Amino acid sequence: MTDDAVITIEGLSKRYDGFTAVDDVSLEIKRGEIFGLLGPNGAGKSTIISILCCLLEPTAGRVTIDGFDVEKNTTDIKKIIGVVPQEISLYYTLTARENLAFYAKIYGLSGKAMKDRIETLLDMVGLTDRADDRLEGYSGGMKRRINIAVALLHNPGILFLDEPSTGVDPQSRKRIYDTIRDLNQQGMTVLLTTHQMEDAEKLCHRIAIVDKGKLIALDTLDGLLKMVGETDIIQVTAKEITPEAVDVIQRIENVQKVSVDEDSMTIQLVQGRELLAGIIKALTASGTKVESIQIKEPDLETLFLHLTGTKLRK
Ligand code: ADP
Ligand code: MG
Repeated sequence: MTDDAVITIEGLSKRYDGFTAVDDVSLEIKRGEIFGLLGPNGAGKSTIISILCCLLEPTAGRVTIDGFDVEKNTTDIKKIIGVVPQEISLYYTLTARENLAFYAKIYGLSGKAMKDRIETLLDMVGLTDRADDRLEGYSGGMKRRINIAVALLHNPGILFLDEPSTGVDPQSRKRIYDTIRDLNQQGMTVLLTTHQMEDAEKLCHRIAIVDKGKLIALDTLDGLLKMVGETDIIQVTAKEITPEAVDVIQRIENVQKVSVDEDSMTIQLVQGRELLAGIIKALTASGTKVESIQIKEPDLETLFLHLTGTKLRK
């Protein structure tokens, strides 16, 4: 364990009956960082978070948070972590203030201290002016913001967010990003899970990529993108993409992989820029009416394709 690690995960596995949802994962999360677990649906992200929150017991391995063991020191851990679950857990017939008060009382807050805390948190998530409206009129993003406020009531030092931007409109998403960054600037350690590479790219200091229960890469964004190496991605849109057109492209030297999704063709290749003209020529010769062609800078989607041969967004 390194000195600045606040969460350590060693050889963590979780099996449901015969199915392995988390498979021998080891990693450390440093104090004060925003750490992302990125992977497609079913990768095991929520299972990992549930184990860290002491909601689920590991089948094998060991997890500590601030030196406390998740299997032995549940009460200590619950005091220092805040959890924003994937499923929103709020009362829709109550107002935002009433929801916060309900949960604040569970944490033992009352009186002026409770009132002040609720106002601070409403302000932090930008919903003070809507605080007396019932949640049933809220957008998905606004509900998520209240859920974040609930997770912060007891002033934890570590925050877990499971898919914070799922079902969230762009405006709320920006607000949620800003809130996470502000909290982190004030010293909060943040662990979030996501299947959206944008969350990981925009927010996280370090990113662990998980697929089928396994940790397949862990680094900073820059470090991860270096792993893509020479690979470029060319995206072509055309009215009709025939198997012949795919065949023609596949036979070009340097082309590693071609995939087609309706009217869009994704070509993974090395030295994409040099080959751009040749690709347009070959497609035109095969009778394809190219509408647009774009070369993409490597991103986490490219890396995922590179590492697993499948797309992150399925
Ligand atoms: P993610 O959050 O990355 O989408 P999950 O951790 O929710 O993934 O699930 C990982 C895998 O474990 C999935 O294949 C899921 O179907 C399976 N799984 C999750 N919970 C259970 C359970 N209680 N019983 C059996 N299988 C489960
Ligand atoms: Mg999940």
